[in-house]
Amino acid sequence: MKINLPETGQKRVVIVGGGFAGLELAKKLVKGPYQVVLLDKNNYHQFQPLLYQVATAGLEPSSIAFPLRKLFQKCPNFYFRMTEVQAIHPEKRCLTTPRGIVWYDYLVLALGAQTNFFGNAQFLAHAIPMKSISEALYLRNAILSDLEVALTTPEYERRQGLVDVVIVGGGPTGVELAGALAEMRHWILPKDYPELDASEVDIYLVQAGERLLPGMSHEAAQSALYYLQSMGVHVILGDRVIDYDGSWVCLKSGRRIYSKKVIWAAGIKGQTIQGIASTSIGPGNRICVDAFHRVKGYNDIFAIGDVALMKEDPNWPEGHPQVAQVAIQQGLNLGNNLLRQMQGKDLIPFRYIDKGSLATIGRNKAVADLPFWNTQGWIAWVLWLFVHLFALVGTKNKVFVFLNWVWNYITYDQSLRLIIRPWLRKKQGENTPSCPE
Ligand SMILES: Cc1cc2nc3c(=O)[nH]c(=O)nc-3n(C[C@H](O)[C@H](O)[C@H](O)COP(=O)(O)OP(=O)(O)OC[C@H]3O[C@@H](n4cnc5c(N)ncnc54)[C@H](O)[C@@H]3O)c2cc1C
Repeated sequence: MKINLPETGQKRVVIVGGGFAGLELAKKLVKGPYQVVLLDKNNYHQFQPLLYQVATAGLEPSSIAFPLRKLFQKCPNFYFRMTEVQAIHPEKRCLTTPRGIVWYDYLVLALGAQTNFFGNAQFLAHAIPMKSISEALYLRNAILSDLEVALTTPEYERRQGLVDVVIVGGGPTGVELAGALAEMRHWILPKDYPELDASEVDIYLVQAGERLLPGMSHEAAQSALYYLQSMGVHVILGDRVIDYDGSWVCLKSGRRIYSKKVIWAAGIKGQTIQGIASTSIGPGNRICVDAFHRVKGYNDIFAIGDVALMKEDPNWPEGHPQVAQVAIQQGLNLGNNLLRQMQGKDLIPFRYIDKGSLATIGRNKAVADLPFWNTQGWIAWVLWLFVHLFALVGTKNKVFVFLNWVWNYITYDQSLRLIIRPWLRKKQGENTPSCPE
């Protein structure tokens, strides 16, 4: 069965993934002579850099998501289908999905990355990842529900397990999440849960390396450490989480921490897809591409963004960092090249322009490594706010997020602490317990 798509006589470019890379490419290509087909398992684009604010009840999920169809409403050569691609068949130039087969002239894999539990079944079973809006919502529910349960738990030990949080991984995600949780403990807990002793809530950040933010400068790492420690976060450096059974976190040093919530921010790997030869897959499960984003061994299949590994850029011989700017610039470059190819022009090899890195720890506290200048504190924080605001997709989202942030800044509060669980049908025989005698 074929997925229903019109035959317009145009060459068809099928893009799998509507993240930063896929979206940028589609925006470029819809202006050209191609038929552009975007496939994504979700019907929205998600802005991952702000997931941690959804997880800590600072922003609504709808503020950081944008419906993919809405973006391309006025593009007659654009088609979106919500489906999960299962396999590619390069010899037949088609891919299979649960909804049917899609044929392509050019295929672009912009699949992004997935959480890497490094093959540990215990982490997979018990730790909470934060790579999508649904995972961020799960985390928000877990944090808020456990606080509610803690209020009705008289035993100190059990209560500790419910309120304490362990974050694994001291990269930007771990640092930003630790900061946001520490602020929540400081500003929200005493108001929302006055019967709960906020000093009982411990936030641990465990980083295997000797410093935080390994991809950033030494000053940034030092400042982040200082900020987090001054906010009461227990930062554990040079130690590794080796086991977690859902209750006890075991570190390599022998230390044990009792916690019902371990948040996994310790690594990612490329999304997998069947059909690409194993010889084209590199370290970190990333798909090896040449300087024109062509997957090694294929002429008509490209990969961009987090899933791609390009070693041809002289400044990045081990591949580019898996960040939004790389994905956006790769989407743009591939789009330009596909248009140039149609016009018989030479293709342009990809060169990444690094505009710098930012991470925020809390109110007025952030770190910024810019091409010619590193700064920390208030200026870095304001920079972080504006960069993220402008990068968000959709004017309404920008306005809502801005208003939310202003409101939070003035009131020291967010009002989004709702526990909304997905509806589950009640099992037969499940009934309300009767009142005790
Ligand atoms: C918590 C967090 C915080 C981050 N913070 C920052 C930051 O501050 N700054 C920064 O620069 N970067 C940050 N990043 C990294 C940044 O978000 C990624 O580098 C960027 O999203 C990569 O873009 P992409 O298009 O390659 O992949 P993604 O944005 O992940 O998009 C991939 C898309 O592919 C779809 N997809 C995957 N598999 C399939 C399939 N089989 N079939 C159909 N669709 C599929 C997904 O639904 C998704 O829409 C952060 C990431 C996370 C998780």
